[in-house]
Amino acid sequence: MKCIRCGRPGVIKLQQGSLCGKCFTEYFQKKVYKTIRKYKLFTKRDTLCFALSGGKDSLAVAYVVSKIARERGQRMFAIGVDEGVKNYRELQLEDMKRFCKKLGIEYHIFTFEEEYGKTNEQLMEIARKKDIDISQCTLCGILRRRILNREARNLGATKMVVGHNLDDEVQTSLMNLFKGSIELMARLGPSPGAAKHKNFIPRIKPLYFCTDKETEVFTKLKGIKVLYKPCPHRKDSFREYVDRKLEEIEKDYPGTKTSIIQNMIKIIPMLKKEFSRSAIVECEVCGEPSKKRICKSCSTLRKLGIS
Ligand code: SF4
Ligand SMILES: [Zn+2]
Ligand SMILES: [Zn+2]
Repeated sequence: MKCIRCGRPGVIKLQQGSLCGKCFTEYFQKKVYKTIRKYKLFTKRDTLCFALSGGKDSLAVAYVVSKIARERGQRMFAIGVDEGVKNYRELQLEDMKRFCKKLGIEYHIFTFEEEYGKTNEQLMEIARKKDIDISQCTLCGILRRRILNREARNLGATKMVVGHNLDDEVQTSLMNLFKGSIELMARLGPSPGAAKHKNFIPRIKPLYFCTDKETEVFTKLKGIKVLYKPCPHRKDSFREYVDRKLEEIEKDYPGTKTSIIQNMIKIIPMLKKEFSRSAIVECEVCGEPSKKRICKSCSTLRKLGIS
């Protein structure tokens, strides 16, 4: 397995052939730069907020994008949210702190306990007792997004950089399709979603065309310390189920995930056009942007008896 560009020993096999460490890191970074340029993900005037979980994707994207932002003299900072998943998130957030200190990125950490008085696991316990039909990951995602958006805005961000990669995007596309949530598909794609509101910080995905495997290899080659084990709750999620099935299909029909993304890229602009008409209002309870009078976080917290 020799590098198709320079003949050195390869470290990763891509569809077009193998690449050595040096050629691969160049290839990976160029792919991210190209995505940023092509989809105009941010400009020099933007203040960037890295939504860091401390996992490989969020650290890889922060590594590449912070380099560009530093060269351009742009303001940037990172936010991490500790949902209280024991033996997992606190370890990732340690990696995140180390990473930010090393790269000189200002960082802020917020916790579910401070915000909601309970961890994600304690909130889920209440949901189970009250027989509320919600999964651990849905609950976690809804409550985390509110903290991220509000704090990024309060700290002056104009764009939120997230680590979603090609695999995440394919999974999300299929999950939405399977659940009939076509409107949610309009929020996909590398650039900001259909929803526009002064209180909403648009999310950008520079790793949109980078696979899970590529991102993992990149972090290893760059010596970025990352906890590679998944969240213990992920195994019970619909995402994990879709991921497993996709892996089976990809094994039998290589290139399937890339084809899905290439098709999604063509469909998303039409979906954005169709669904950008739905108005975004301010939640009557918390003031965060919402499709309904009361946002998902507030209505979920109300059901749980926490507000
Ligand atoms: S896998 Fe689910 S529970 Fe775990 S951090 Fe992610 S969204 Fe939260
Ligand atoms: Zn090479
Ligand atoms: Zn609200």
